[in-house]
Amino acid sequence: MTTINPSECIFCRILNGRAPGSFVYQDDFTAAFMDIRQPVPYRVLVVPRAHVETVYDLDAAQAEALFRTTVQVARAVKAASGCEGLNLFQNNGPLAGQDVPHVHMHILPRYPGDALQPSLKSFAQAMGLPMPDRAELDRMAAELRASLA
Ligand code: AMP
Ligand code: ZN
Repeated sequence: MTTINPSECIFCRILNGRAPGSFVYQDDFTAAFMDIRQPVPYRVLVVPRAHVETVYDLDAAQAEALFRTTVQVARAVKAASGCEGLNLFQNNGPLAGQDVPHVHMHILPRYPGDALQPSLKSFAQAMGLPMPDRAELDRMAAELRASLA
């Protein structure tokens, strides 16, 4: 699903050389470039070349290529930055915090004492969220299993 014209998409513009980008990696299917915001150094974005809005819209080959490139670039980020941890994440839709509607993997190195948001895990722990019982976990797993193609 595409809700914007790719010619208006900032990531398509970067990929086509019509907006500035600091490229880390490029192949026929994917590219990686520096995030314009660097709350910590070596923050990188990995994208499919095609204008695909969210992960739901990726075909299998695009999904494989995106993750393969992400893993390669993550290794390079780890080696270059000397980070002590690294978040890989991406957002789908405005409610999930997606600002740029071209699917992208964030590579976010973590350093001792950085001031970034805690992970979802520590957020949940800090909120004291109860763990659902096993029956509820089994029910959700069965529902998801049934909806897998
Ligand atoms: P999201 O909020 O998940 O859609 O992430 C969008 C990301 O794209 C943010 O981390 C922005 O800093 C980054 N970004 C936006 N515009 C540019 C740009 N022109 N070049 C590089 N990164 C960008
Ligand atoms: Zn795009």
